Amino acid sequence: MPVLELCCPDCGHEFRSLVMEGAKVPTVWVCSVCGSRRAHPQRTVEVTDHPWSGGQSCRCCG
Ligand SMILES: [Zn+2]
Repeated sequence: MPVLELCCPDCGHEFRSLVMEGAKVPTVWVCSVCGSRRAHPQRTVEVTDHPWSGGQSCRCCG
């Protein structure tokens, strides 16, 4: 699924936002840190797995 990488020019905060398939991409992004509405997408990355669900391979025994 596509994930938008966003950057806030006011405070430099970078964050990601999931883009639902078929859903409209918002034109205004609000920075969760400083509240600026000038945050904008840097690029779109394709995430095939959930990075927050934990890795499937373990470093200690993989
Ligand atoms: Zn900000």
